[in-house]
Amino acid sequence: MENTKKLRSWLDAFGLDHPLVIAGPCSAETEDQVLKIAHQLKNTDTTVLRAGIWKPRTRPGNFEGVGDLGLKWLQKAKEETGLLTTTEVANANHVDLALKHDIDILWVGARTTVSPFIVQELADALKGTDKTILIKNPINPDLALWLGAVERFYEAGLENLGVIHRGFSTYEKTRYRNNPEWQIPIDLQNRFPDLPLILDPSHIAGRRDIIFDLCQTALDLNFDGLMVETHYDPDNAWSDAKQQITPQKLDQMTVDLRIRKEEGDEIEFRNKLATMRAQIDVIDHKLLEILGNRMKISDQIGSLKKKNNVAILQTKRWNEILDKMILQGGDQKLSEEFILKMFKAVHQESINHQKNVFNE
Ligand code: PEP
Ligand code: MN
Repeated sequence: MENTKKLRSWLDAFGLDHPLVIAGPCSAETEDQVLKIAHQLKNTDTTVLRAGIWKPRTRPGNFEGVGDLGLKWLQKAKEETGLLTTTEVANANHVDLALKHDIDILWVGARTTVSPFIVQELADALKGTDKTILIKNPINPDLALWLGAVERFYEAGLENLGVIHRGFSTYEKTRYRNNPEWQIPIDLQNRFPDLPLILDPSHIAGRRDIIFDLCQTALDLNFDGLMVETHYDPDNAWSDAKQQITPQKLDQMTVDLRIRKEEGDEIEFRNKLATMRAQIDVIDHKLLEILGNRMKISDQIGSLKKKNNVAILQTKRWNEILDKMILQGGDQKLSEEFILKMFKAVHQESINHQKNVFNE
């Protein structure tokens, strides 16, 4: 992908003075539901109406979508409101039907991006069209797999492309349904700064109350748009009920979010600075997480030493760690003075943790 400027021409063509907003229900449920939501979104910042027609579910037995029938509802919603439309496609037959029904933008779901075979099938089915394709990250945190999918479409001659960050699956339960792992979209953005990057806060959050904060982080990181699951009666949605918000809530959110889209030298400088600061915040958060994990192991060592009646402080082991860290720190361009100060502090905290375990 050499000339990546072209990749965003579909987005530039909208001429928006705010990030792109894609909104609509997780699933199309009934014609009335689709039309009602579309009308409620009509006078918001929303440009594109989303609705899943074929729903890939991790476990069978959940609502699997209304199928082809729903494509007509999307067409009708577009006619009545002027909103563009988008739905998820997961095989060549879906592509064929979506093209026949003039769906404007197609998205590739997280469970599809993981499979190069299916991605290739989609790319082949779309060859020769000028459709806009948005590619969600794969379920697993693998940047190469995500980029590989983008490349398969690009190599099939599709140049209206974008990516959607929807978080990554983890085995442990965290505060998120899918961990944001912000470093991955940041890396992607650094490699392909022109490839439109859209946040799907709904599938990251899995719940309503943190959607706003996720959107703000993404805008601070210079994302190009948001895809938000929206329903007039979120609690009674047929899928992903916990994470959907009402169109009214979405509208308010777009007012409350700090958006940095203006141009001008001074503003550009401030935007760049703000983006880098947001990147640093992501890394600092990671640092704390890593330090927390390190101390958890210190606690375990503490209880092991206690059981075996061994002293907390073991100077020989400590000196070995320091020597190794000074060498490795040098490779990272970190001064010996800094490494000494930092590891002394880490070591002290570790001793305190072990002492607490001894005193329990
Ligand atoms: C969706 O957007 O409704 C969806 C199924 O998303 P994902 O592929 O990110 O799980
Ligand atoms: Mn969903």
